[in-house]
Amino acid sequence: MIVAGPCSAESRAQVLDTCRALAAGGRVDMLRAGVWKPRTSPSCFQGVGRIGLEWLAEASRATGLPFGVEVASAEHIEAAVAAGASMVWIGARTTGNPFSMQEIAEALRGSEVTVMVKNPAIPDVGLWRGAVERLTAAGVAPERIVLIHRGFSQTGRGLYRNPPMWHIALDMRRDYPGLKMLCDPSHICGSRERLREISQKAADLSYDGLFVESHIDPSSALSDASQQLTPVDLDAMLDAIVWRREESPHPAFEQAIERCRLEIDQIDMQVFDLLARRMVIAEDIGRIKLQNDVTILQRQRWEEIVDTLVGRAGQWKLSPDFVRSILEAIHMESIARQNGVMNPGEDGRQ
Ligand code: PEP
Ligand code: MN
Repeated sequence: MIVAGPCSAESRAQVLDTCRALAAGGRVDMLRAGVWKPRTSPSCFQGVGRIGLEWLAEASRATGLPFGVEVASAEHIEAAVAAGASMVWIGARTTGNPFSMQEIAEALRGSEVTVMVKNPAIPDVGLWRGAVERLTAAGVAPERIVLIHRGFSQTGRGLYRNPPMWHIALDMRRDYPGLKMLCDPSHICGSRERLREISQKAADLSYDGLFVESHIDPSSALSDASQQLTPVDLDAMLDAIVWRREESPHPAFEQAIERCRLEIDQIDMQVFDLLARRMVIAEDIGRIKLQNDVTILQRQRWEEIVDTLVGRAGQWKLSPDFVRSILEAIHMESIARQNGVMNPGEDGRQ
């Protein structure tokens, strides 16, 4: 299942042109666009509001494709349903808010729309589960609930805008095997570069499809300009993705191993993201020492670090030798980086 459309509905022409081009490609099953945008800053574009629903309804009539919008309140749901939306989705910021989820669940009682539930912004699978539980408790049938993995917030900037945590999404699939799961590569990547790679990964993990942003002219987009693809580029990307059949002699074994590997990959990524940040700080220290004419190595400070962390090895269930050798490797790199700042021109290694 492919759900595609602009991040935001911006004008009648932008919605119609984008949706017509998406439909012409023949690969898209449903249109999406935000009309109420949950933006981090109040000074950003907040969405066009209800008028955008009329543009989407017109695009839907013109293309024969159903459409969905993001909702965060009972009022949004009422307006979306009245405009003919077949789907509403719950954004990451809303999934993590139990008050909003309760209001949304009540408002969906008895309605026939499909509800797509993005993962919450923080990696708390319980919040995601809770959102689904509120919907099912309000009588929303499982066939009408779809999960979307859109990655999780992080501190600082990394490779991804919202790094994927595939193992958390797999946990949700294990808990709700009957629900479909889509991947939103756009909000995971935050840029166009790795969209295909992430989409292929989702296909390899047996996701049921993609939820992806596309804009007729991404460079002029009022929100998420850097992650949107033109409809033509989206078609090319969708063409390149291989959806393999799920087959394995021992599916339970494969799944268990895969889950562990995903978690390990995720942790390795975090370990090196943190080390990279540590090295940037080491360079700051180098600059401060340079300004104050202080040596690179303060023996006492280093011994304190080693004693503290090696002393905690047991608490982490790690061997003291292991902790010491990791620390030594980190320290060598750190000294090299400080040296690079304090003695530019040398190779930086001791
Ligand atoms: C969106 O899909 O446009 C959106 C706001 O996504 P998220 O809730 O994943 O940030
Ligand atoms: Mn967006």
